[in-house]
Amino acid sequence: MAGINRKFVDPLPFQAQTNTLSESIPEERWKHLPPYEVKSGEQFGPIEWRGKCFCGKITYLLKREKPLNAKYCHCRVCRVTHAAPVQWSAIFHKHDILFTNGASGLAFYSTTHRNQKHVLPTKVSCANCRTPIMDEGRNMCLIFPQLIQIEGSSQEQREKREVFNPTCHIFYNSRMSDCPDGLPKWSGKENSSVPMDDDGIPIGVEK
Ligand SMILES: [Zn+2]
Ligand SMILES: [Zn+2]
Repeated sequence: MAGINRKFVDPLPFQAQTNTLSESIPEERWKHLPPYEVKSGEQFGPIEWRGKCFCGKITYLLKREKPLNAKYCHCRVCRVTHAAPVQWSAIFHKHDILFTNGASGLAFYSTTHRNQKHVLPTKVSCANCRTPIMDEGRNMCLIFPQLIQIEGSSQEQREKREVFNPTCHIFYNSRMSDCPDGLPKWSGKENSSVPMDDDGIPIGVEK
């Protein structure tokens, strides 16, 4: 039967994103670098925070107590890919993050190339439950603090979470709703766009 023979001839379809380690493929070098390089907890250093996706297949550790910065982004890409009014992210060096299973179980999406290859910058999510994990840039990672595990009473949790508090809003021109929280606001990128007030009025312009 022709149909049966064809099964032996046809190659298997390509995997969208395989996570088998392969030293021989130079494009896979990123899997051996932070934050995906597999290390023991001792090699990594003292742990400040632990993050976990919804299903628990993806876990990561952070060894830096305070992010370099934290922001709310109102741009359309962030809003659509999170299905949320705003994206809350905290910036860390790649070497401050350790994915406990390396790149295994992670899915990638390049909004620039519109494909699932690991091309920087990339959106990183759990391949199983699809929880957004972080945006990986060339030098930094923007992790999403909702995933950080914080224990204690609600008051203790609030206090501990303070280190992740956003310092500003970016791409406020693209917002779905106003955020009257008094934080600094920028029409686009921080420090290189128009500063705005809570109503989105450029600062220095009469209402
Ligand atoms: Zn998951
Ligand atoms: Zn954004």
